[in-house]
Amino acid sequence: MQLQIECNTSKHGSQVCCVCSHRFALGQAKVILCDDQGAAYGEVCSACLHNGFDWIKQEFEYSNLLHKTAYNQYRSRKRDVPLSA
Ligand SMILES: [Zn+2]
Repeated sequence: MQLQIECNTSKHGSQVCCVCSHRFALGQAKVILCDDQGAAYGEVCSACLHNGFDWIKQEFEYSNLLHKTAYNQYRSRKRDVPLSA
């Protein structure tokens, strides 16, 4: 996981933060959260940046984990339905 700084060429004035899901105003530069292969997840707001990279990483991995857990629970619930029902 890494952060990339890019010039903001977008005409849109605001963007949704990929970490905290809050809408924030874009400045002249934008910070993008990427995986280790360089694939972008999305923009990061200044409030999240203020918390530091370790915090962003932790928050992002935690929310990813929650999605995966919810998905696995859904899968296991489906599998647990008795065939006789
Ligand atoms: Zn944020």
